[in-house]
Amino acid sequence: MNQDTGNPSRSKGGHPWRTEKVAAVFLDRDGVLNDQTGFVNEPEDFNLLPGAAAAVARLNRTGIPVVVVTNQGGIALGYLTEDDLARIHERMVKLLAAEGAHVDAVYYCPHYAGGTVTRYAQDCADRKPGTGMLEKARDDLGINLRKSVLVGDATTDILAGIRAGCRTILVCTGFAGKDGKAVAEPDYTVADLAEAVDLILTKPRV
Ligand SMILES: [Mg+2]
Ligand SMILES: [Zn+2]
Repeated sequence: MNQDTGNPSRSKGGHPWRTEKVAAVFLDRDGVLNDQTGFVNEPEDFNLLPGAAAAVARLNRTGIPVVVVTNQGGIALGYLTEDDLARIHERMVKLLAAEGAHVDAVYYCPHYAGGTVTRYAQDCADRKPGTGMLEKARDDLGINLRKSVLVGDATTDILAGIRAGCRTILVCTGFAGKDGKAVAEPDYTVADLAEAVDLILTKPRV
């Protein structure tokens, strides 16, 4: 595992990603923005991790689009409905707004081949490590994936980012890359979203 220290030297010059309109920051949801020690099946289950909203607000101030991409296979498993998810995301928006932060778009995949709800129990190119959600965001928002970065806590997030051509940052909140679902080497490993944003805003693109 890449054990980049997450203490990048600060560049005094411009911030290349700040000036790129087409660059975006993709965020996994559970384990990156919010605590995922239990299932998030209703709004009260959704609680932001410490520092997460402030980190998103810092991105917002640069004008970089922030896009959430989240697998929601719990819908295929019957744990929650798409309406429940909409309410959870209303709470997410509210909690972020309380700290001056917002996300520009949210993409989710309700599918999971092992699900029990027939209409959702299927493979889907959107489900990470698939790249479907990233490609939809690219088309909807005019994002250049090669100039973008994905922040995730699971190997499946990182693999999706790599496949889409993004730079990838693994955070050590949530699964901290120990989900064991895929083999994927992130470009950077940092403690949490705040450190990921430090990196995004200071490290010139290689
Ligand atoms: Mg996650
Ligand atoms: Zn899907």
